[in-house]
Amino acid sequence: MKRTGGCQCGKVRYEVTGEPMQQVFCYCSDCQTRTGGDKWFGIWYHHDNFKFTGEVETKTFTRKGSSGHDVHQHYCPECGVTVCADITIGQFYTIAGPSFDDAESLEPKMAIFTASAPKWAVLPTTIPVFDTFPSNM
Ligand SMILES: [Zn+2]
Ligand SMILES: [Zn+2]
Repeated sequence: MKRTGGCQCGKVRYEVTGEPMQQVFCYCSDCQTRTGGDKWFGIWYHHDNFKFTGEVETKTFTRKGSSGHDVHQHYCPECGVTVCADITIGQFYTIAGPSFDDAESLEPKMAIFTASAPKWAVLPTTIPVFDTFPSNM
């Protein structure tokens, strides 16, 4: 299975193969800051299954994740959309769900870091919800 997607202006493009590792709403404070909303909808693909294919290279902003390891956020230098973040400790990318060309086919399967969600957030009721991170991951 191959999927494609990209940023708002279309200069950053990517391609993934296989099935996602996870499909996650993340309510951590870093995701709120990045999105300007209550959560990030991330589709997780292992490094081996992801490649950039667009005409411009992303810019990156690096922060420390909750694990203390680097998270490299990749955004388009033209339109500013954060397409994905490289979770180095897990060797995967969390790709913005709405950036996929077939975004409608990808829905969230769990919610994490809901303890950090804003008070006004409407948490999902039809998928597993975790205060921080599921202990078996
Ligand atoms: Zn762009
Ligand atoms: Zn997050």
